[in-house]
Amino acid sequence: MEWLQILKNTDPQTFEAITNELDRQRNTLDLIPSENFTSVAVLQAIGSVLTNKYSEGYPGKRYYAGNEFIDTVEKLAIERAKTLFNVPHANVQAYSGSPANIAIYFAICKPGDVIMGQNLTDGGHLTHGWKTSITGQYFKSVPYHVKPDGYIDLEEVRKLAAENKPKIIWVGATAYTREFPFEEFSRIADETGSYLAADISHIAGLVAAGVHKSPASYVHVIMTTTHKTLRGPRGAMIMVTRKGLEKDPELADKIDKSVFPGLQGGPHDNTTAGIAVALHESMKPEFKEYSLQIVKNAKALAEELMNNGLKLVTSGTDNHMILIDLTDLGEGNGILVQETLELCGIIVNKNTIPNDPSSPFYPSGIRLGTPAITTRSMKENEMKVIGNLMSQIINEVKGHQLPSNKEKRQEYLKKFKSDMKNNQVVKNVKNSVENLCKQFPLYTNL
Ligand SMILES: *Cc1c(COP(=O)(O)O)cnc(C)c1O
Repeated sequence: MEWLQILKNTDPQTFEAITNELDRQRNTLDLIPSENFTSVAVLQAIGSVLTNKYSEGYPGKRYYAGNEFIDTVEKLAIERAKTLFNVPHANVQAYSGSPANIAIYFAICKPGDVIMGQNLTDGGHLTHGWKTSITGQYFKSVPYHVKPDGYIDLEEVRKLAAENKPKIIWVGATAYTREFPFEEFSRIADETGSYLAADISHIAGLVAAGVHKSPASYVHVIMTTTHKTLRGPRGAMIMVTRKGLEKDPELADKIDKSVFPGLQGGPHDNTTAGIAVALHESMKPEFKEYSLQIVKNAKALAEELMNNGLKLVTSGTDNHMILIDLTDLGEGNGILVQETLELCGIIVNKNTIPNDPSSPFYPSGIRLGTPAITTRSMKENEMKVIGNLMSQIINEVKGHQLPSNKEKRQEYLKKFKSDMKNNQVVKNVKNSVENLCKQFPLYTNL
């Protein structure tokens, strides 16, 4: 293998870990909805000499010499983001999604201001005001929830907003399987004079491809990570909409100042190049096909899971994501399903479900998604196979229960895993997964 030959000689230990990880990605099914496989072109951009440069400031206004070509790269990323998401301003320097959200707060809010976001255990992100996050401690967080049917409770959003007059309202989540009601949120935010920020980290690729409604005409600010459905490097972008500039003509400038010098120092120029490449790729017709297929696959997988008797939050999906409600298996058993699926090479993540009777670390649900396996060219037929394999495994976990005594959990899990390793269904499913992965090879050119 040509790839990484120099690294192999310099640092065999790191080389080995990286090649092991490549093998793991090739030989397992990645169903984590926030993950994806970037193109080799993106890998080349982020592995480039751009990592050597310091370029604090913005194109044409840098604090260091030697930024001619960095300016070219950053301007490419900015212009492509503006075109793709139909916005007048984009900042591509935030190191990742969480700092990007902090930068938005810093541009708009003062410590102690009221903020509103979707509650974490209802699918929201940590940075939307959860109690363990800086955002839940430096601001007065008023979370909204989903209804028993799993859809956002817009009545509650309207009521809480009217009562608390939040400075900023977030629409967007990390575990939500339905289309976001941007228009309804914009009416609420306009009534209370709040800033409305759309966090489209998960669905950005679908929005770019026109497969999910765009928030651009409804919200003031849009944040997205670049490494999820957008299939770029780890990074983020903050965009200001026309509506945002109408509310505050200085908003774009405030966002830029908030990212640098407010929160960060030098941007990661190699990442900026990777973002530019990913945005270029996502403007192509193939990316629209890809995004349509992500949703078709998620719907097919959801259908198969439900046909096998599993309960899904909202009973289906509009996007790339599925949330399995495992409360029928007993509370907190998401971990047992996650670990058993991993033994078979099916990689998912345990997640809370609305009104979870357990805790975020031992939740009662499983979150999965189709962006990564769709990048591997899998289609509806493979979804049926995968849904069926997963259902077999969940069936095997039935009857096992995580101890309610916290001290006993680690020991129980150890024994549970070693028992499951010898389970015949687990062995059969593992074989099927390996065969499926071989049929859809990954990174053949590395
Ligand atoms: C992933 C995600 C983030 C944070 O991104 P990181 O790059 O992990 O910091 C923020 N908001 C939402 C909704 C996300 O899904």
